[in-house]
Amino acid sequence: MIDSHCHLEQKVYEKDLDDVIGLCKKEGLKALVTVCADPKDFDKSLEIVDVYPDYVFLCASIHPEFIKDITARQVDNYFDRLKESKDKLVAVGECGLDYFWVKEDDWREKQKELFIRHIELSKELNLPLVIHSRDAWEDVLKILEQEDVKKALLHFWGSRELMPRVIENNYSITIGPLIARSKNHKKIVRDTPLENILLETDSPWFGQNGEKGVPTNIKIPCEKISEVKKLNFGEVWNKCGNNTKKFFSLPI
Ligand SMILES: [Zn+2]
Repeated sequence: MIDSHCHLEQKVYEKDLDDVIGLCKKEGLKALVTVCADPKDFDKSLEIVDVYPDYVFLCASIHPEFIKDITARQVDNYFDRLKESKDKLVAVGECGLDYFWVKEDDWREKQKELFIRHIELSKELNLPLVIHSRDAWEDVLKILEQEDVKKALLHFWGSRELMPRVIENNYSITIGPLIARSKNHKKIVRDTPLENILLETDSPWFGQNGEKGVPTNIKIPCEKISEVKKLNFGEVWNKCGNNTKKFFSLPI
């Protein structure tokens, strides 16, 4: 198993990242994909992948939620850095649209422009895309189709209605610990082939019992998927892990 989406550069791991990673290894996780979603976290993220080579892999972009906080110049500089660091990246993301936090039409338009720039970057670097689409499901799919994106991972996908279109495009989705309390996510899993499912924790978010999230919580979505699909735990664990390895072309 691999946690295909966590944020290890977050401050809450400052003191115990080594212990967290040690525990992941002990519990059989083969790799972690850490997601840098803010230019100011990029240095820290690069440092982490250097400390844990062939175990922590990096995916980077600008989260759509930050659209109001970033200038055109900062975007340009960051994109230059991503290009320079291409060899350290396994994907571009999480980029996309967020209509939950951003309600104004003009800011949503800006999100779309930035999303398209990320898509162009992913094509230039020949890397797959990891997409954030909170409450913007339809627009995200429309843009991916318009831009003829072939390889996309829809992080935390929540639209059951649009699932047939996702499958038709052969995009993948991630399922996280939220599935334990979400009927919607259980139904999405029921209707989606296991080939299109990757597991994630989005740590440090979605922690259990008020604690910070850790990648070993990957067992939660794995367990729930095996219940919904009536498969054994080991089968889901291996298959979803392989899906992640394949999606990001991880050299492990
Ligand atoms: Zn995330």
